[in-house]
Amino acid sequence: MKALYYPAWDQLEIRDVPEPAPKPGEVVIRVAAVGICGSELHCFVTHAPRRPPPAIMGHEFCGEVLQVGEGTSGYRPGDRVVVNSVIACGRCEDCLDGRVHLCREGEVFGMKRPGGFAERCAVPVSTLLPLPDGVSPLQGALVEPLANGVHALSLTRQRFPETVVVIGAGTIGLMVLQVATAAGALRLVSVDVSDARLQVAQQLGAETVLNPRTHDVVTTVRHLTRGRGADVVVDAVGAAETRRVAVEAARRGGEIVWLGLHDDPTQVSGFDVVLGERKVLGSFAVTHHDLRTAIGLFAHGKIALDPWVRTFPLLDGARVFQELATDPPADYIKALLLP
Ligand SMILES: [Zn+2]
Ligand SMILES: [Zn+2]
Repeated sequence: MKALYYPAWDQLEIRDVPEPAPKPGEVVIRVAAVGICGSELHCFVTHAPRRPPPAIMGHEFCGEVLQVGEGTSGYRPGDRVVVNSVIACGRCEDCLDGRVHLCREGEVFGMKRPGGFAERCAVPVSTLLPLPDGVSPLQGALVEPLANGVHALSLTRQRFPETVVVIGAGTIGLMVLQVATAAGALRLVSVDVSDARLQVAQQLGAETVLNPRTHDVVTTVRHLTRGRGADVVVDAVGAAETRRVAVEAARRGGEIVWLGLHDDPTQVSGFDVVLGERKVLGSFAVTHHDLRTAIGLFAHGKIALDPWVRTFPLLDGARVFQELATDPPADYIKALLLP
């Protein structure tokens, strides 16, 4: 079968690789669509030890069951499925306590085991969720990034927050915006350094868009909120600077969600957190429940993918991946590959 193969640092190529065979507890799926994730691009560019070659990357994918291995039940050939990108061990204390997404023994598709940048992929049934007929392969491949947005907001406690600020208008930021709308946020503010991305955010429901190159984000958010600050601020960038701005833009008693792993050390005002009882929440990966919610959001037409998602044949994968890694295009944000 054909796969987008990552043989060595900085290299990607379409290659013929052996067909996957299902181990006990696994099925082989025919990949219908697979997203190129920002974390893969980041690791590719920075030679991150988290994702060393050789590998077949790809962890945001959906498809159809082709072949079932021994000891699998509940799935038959022809079933449409979406895959949870993390394979939890099921035995550690986090798994046993139900924090499966925080399993430290967990594997991610496209790291040690082959991922979805291929025509077919073997996956443990524990990672599968059924994909209803009303959800397209395109939407199916975006269930995982959408679930990241669901997860981030589900950590907050406020219903109908008046103002939600989302820093970053990339894939996750745009998903957070749309989940926030569906969840009852009254006013959305999108922050990004790209005016093209802010325009997309506006089309997807942001009432106010702010480019930090021309506007002071904290001052403007305070101005919009009678001097108080936002009820919820989500940092979907993960840089030291955006984390700091997220804390400063939140009101007293407000909630801040940090997503993204751009930088590690981060300096924020301890006084802002303590004296204002601001709650800083880390958000990582997704639960099965978040994935189910994401499928529901797609099934009920709550999430727009126009004009920011574009599809390409898997055979063009190397070019598209390199392009996104080195010189991101201005006319779309998220690329999906179709094997
Ligand atoms: Zn991802
Ligand atoms: Zn575990």
